[in-house]
Amino acid sequence: MATIIDGKTLAQKIRSNLKLECEELKKNGINPKLAVILVGDDSASKVYVRNKNKACEDVGIEFEEYLLDSSITQEKLIDLINVLNYKKDIHGILLQSPIPRHLDINEAFRTILPEKDVDGFNPLNVGKLALNQDTFVSCTPYGIMKMLEEYGIDLNGKNVTIIGRSNIVGKPLIQCCLNKDATVTICHSRTKNLKEHTINADIVIAAVGKAKFITEDMIKNGAVIIDVGINRDENGKLVGDVDFENVVNKASYITPVPGGVGPMTVAMLMNNVIKAASKLYK
Ligand code: NAD
Repeated sequence: MATIIDGKTLAQKIRSNLKLECEELKKNGINPKLAVILVGDDSASKVYVRNKNKACEDVGIEFEEYLLDSSITQEKLIDLINVLNYKKDIHGILLQSPIPRHLDINEAFRTILPEKDVDGFNPLNVGKLALNQDTFVSCTPYGIMKMLEEYGIDLNGKNVTIIGRSNIVGKPLIQCCLNKDATVTICHSRTKNLKEHTINADIVIAAVGKAKFITEDMIKNGAVIIDVGINRDENGKLVGDVDFENVVNKASYITPVPGGVGPMTVAMLMNNVIKAASKLYK
């Protein structure tokens, strides 16, 4: 039976440490603040933003929410980002995705100042990650790396198979794992014979968005399984991409859903805001 990687407890520990750092910053006259832009009324996005707000309250970070109508123009969105860029009291800017299709998210991410880009989506920060330079690493991959580190799972020379090639999870994970000297395979919807790529992997990271997608027969004995997916099963229960009940008996380590990658993502966002606030005034 696998060891369950407890992302919830680790995230709480990280947040407690950040709270102390935040108090220290405040003593020095720095009041860390995150601005979150939410466009439209996507219900999942609203839940994510609420969770981020709660985490900010917990750590002591000020939170400012900008709710924009789904019909907002690209020009107005960019104008708002520029205003936030120049506000000295705002240290981090986050644009909650997805945004309506008529808007250009790439231009929006490009506009967020790299020093305030706490989600790590500005192309400059993406490039720095690729070059293994200090930067803001996007929060989900960063949280995964922290969990692996905390549980003493070394990536050096390991075969890591990532499933899902999104800009926010799969692609930055390639760099994170490469930077730790892993041999990385990335799979996606056009990959043929997926099992061929998962069966010999020491570590499998699933970011697909399909319940019970990774089954016991697809992994080797003792593999480490990281489940990024957030799905609802037929009973409306929150589940990941992994058939947890069966895979748990074959893996050596596994993250649960909920309580694995999700809380770590939010903790790393808090980490990035504190980092941004500390850096701006150094
Ligand atoms: P996405 O939804 O943008 O893309 C899904 C990826 O899965 C694509 O790259 C696609 O090529 C791949 N895919 C689809 N079908 C496949 C198949 N049959 N075989 C192999 N690959 C296939 O990805 P995303 O935004 O990275 O989200 C993935 C999942 O992770 C979603 O469930 C999302 O809700 C969840 N998520 C969780 C967190 C968290 O903090 N826990 C953060 C981000 C995303």
